[in-house]
Amino acid sequence: MNFASNDYLGLALDGTLAEAAARAARELGAGRGASRLVAGDSPLHRAVEEATADLLGAPASILFGSGYAVNTGLLPVMAGEGDVIVSDALNHASIVDGCRLSRARTLVVPHGDVDALDQRLATADTRRKIVVTETVFSMDGDVAPLVDISAVCARHGALLVPDEAHAFGVFGPRGAGVAAALGELPCDTVRVVTLGKAVGAHGAVVVGGAATVALLKNRARTFVYATAPPPAVCAAALAGLRLLATAASS
Ligand SMILES: *Cc1c(COP(=O)(O)O)cnc(C)c1O
Repeated sequence: MNFASNDYLGLALDGTLAEAAARAARELGAGRGASRLVAGDSPLHRAVEEATADLLGAPASILFGSGYAVNTGLLPVMAGEGDVIVSDALNHASIVDGCRLSRARTLVVPHGDVDALDQRLATADTRRKIVVTETVFSMDGDVAPLVDISAVCARHGALLVPDEAHAFGVFGPRGAGVAAALGELPCDTVRVVTLGKAVGAHGAVVVGGAATVALLKNRARTFVYATAPPPAVCAAALAGLRLLATAASS
């Protein structure tokens, strides 16, 4: 028994995922040999993106090699010098590093403190305001007050970036996450989900509007300058996503 892993649904050891990975490796090879934008792209990568967007009911999505790569690639695209990012004190290291790499002014608010968030946003006199938070916190396991956070974001015209790493597959309808459980949020959002925890594979996906995703495909350095994820990883993730979708509907 292992109570310390993030393999919440036991999918990492599921035969369906392992078999899909083995088949993809046999048929398509072990690696892609180039980044997605050069020659590494494949229908399998796009299938993972589409399956994730379908599950989250979002228009567009982009697959990264890992959740760490998402946060260090996404935040520097969404914010830069002269912008403000408000970040929860208990946010994951990859979010902290993404904030640093963005060169935006990062204001850290006490964990789960919506009033502090409101005050920080009210005093931030900047072009762009980004609020980034985990939805289920990795270490404490508590859930962010996303309804209140999104209302504050809407009031201040801030973009909300919920990181659903520990929620995806477990919380919300069909495992689509905490944000999905709340329906339409009042503010703009760009959602982050990972495929290496409850989905049992590896990688991570950013889900959002078509324009944001197109921007990330061309500007996120951890996407543009990284070798495309291997076929076996994509096939395992796709099998995990399909199990989620079918388990939830049966
Ligand atoms: C685990 C985790 C990540 C990193 O995801 P990997 O795919 O393991 O790189 C990012 N954000 C949060 C909140 C996490 O818990």
